[in-house]
Amino acid sequence: MKEPRVGIGFDSHRFTEGRPLVLGGVAIPFERGLAGHSDADAAAHALIDALLGAAGAGDIGRLFPDDDEAFRGAAGMDLLRKAMEEVRRRGYRVGNADLVVIAEAPRIAPHAEAMRAALAEAIGAPPERISIKGKTAEGMGSIGAGEGIAAHAAVLLLPVE
Ligand code: MG
Repeated sequence: MKEPRVGIGFDSHRFTEGRPLVLGGVAIPFERGLAGHSDADAAAHALIDALLGAAGAGDIGRLFPDDDEAFRGAAGMDLLRKAMEEVRRRGYRVGNADLVVIAEAPRIAPHAEAMRAALAEAIGAPPERISIKGKTAEGMGSIGAGEGIAAHAAVLLLPVE
């Protein structure tokens, strides 16, 4: 008899010039994007690690190694779909997921609903099961200095009956 499982995930990426800013699968108008081997979608990456952690299926670096050319420029949402396939293979579905995106700028709140819809679509769950909160770091530390963006995610997986 399977039981519910929880997972947490974290990710951060540094700002860089000349890349689009993509968070939770949504392109957000901003003067800088995030640096990374993939599309650097910190929100999607945090959610992937929470899903894989809850499922006992390793982590994003093990499933999608960043020294593997196959994943250069990979969309976080594509990796999220693949991670969710692994979760399903192990007999689980998402009960709910809760995300916090920490950015001094841009403001996350105006994009939270679009991110919620995109993430929900990728994991095959209704948007009501996803929550996204935007926070600033109140000017403290590297995120507060606007050097990058961080995201935390918590997930509850429920056994598929
Ligand atoms: Mg990442």
